[in-house]
Amino acid sequence: YFGDNPDLYNVHEVKRLVHLAPVEKVLNMARAHSIWPLGFGLACCAIEGLMAAQGPRYDLSRFGYEVLRNTARQADVMLVAGTVTTKAADFVVRLWEQMSEPKWCMAIGGCAISGGPFVDSYHVVPGVNKLVPVDVYVPGCPPRPDAVLDAFLMLRAKILDKREYLQRSKGKVVTG
Ligand code: SF4
Repeated sequence: YFGDNPDLYNVHEVKRLVHLAPVEKVLNMARAHSIWPLGFGLACCAIEGLMAAQGPRYDLSRFGYEVLRNTARQADVMLVAGTVTTKAADFVVRLWEQMSEPKWCMAIGGCAISGGPFVDSYHVVPGVNKLVPVDVYVPGCPPRPDAVLDAFLMLRAKILDKREYLQRSKGKVVTG
């Protein structure tokens, strides 16, 4: 009810006064603040970077991202932390395909980004982006836990489409 003011019944005036957020934007706010990662450790990066970020010192849970899922069907983001061997490649792709949309992927550490120290080896995939699309790359061998925290904040900014944060962080963590 807009009272007695006839201007307020004008549809343009109503549009000016009432800001309706698109549903997708509201959903993205919820998604960005409660990311459910798929528990996925392949090698040392999972322990040194990811698990350390979840421990009490770095406390990833303060951002709402601690609910690791053990099934791909309940996860939003696949964390590829460690060396992706050619033997594991099919499983990585299968898990990715089991995740429902929208979904994101984070490559944690040199091995997941490019094969790392095993880049010339016959049994390692030279980067998980050869298998699935990657949204955030976290460099390091292994990356520090605070770099993993920063990567989650970058992913949050990406989900919320906050370009300023992505620009500011350029050079530290690279988005795909
Ligand atoms: Fe291990 Fe380094 Fe590869 Fe990480 S990047 S999985 S620390 S060898």
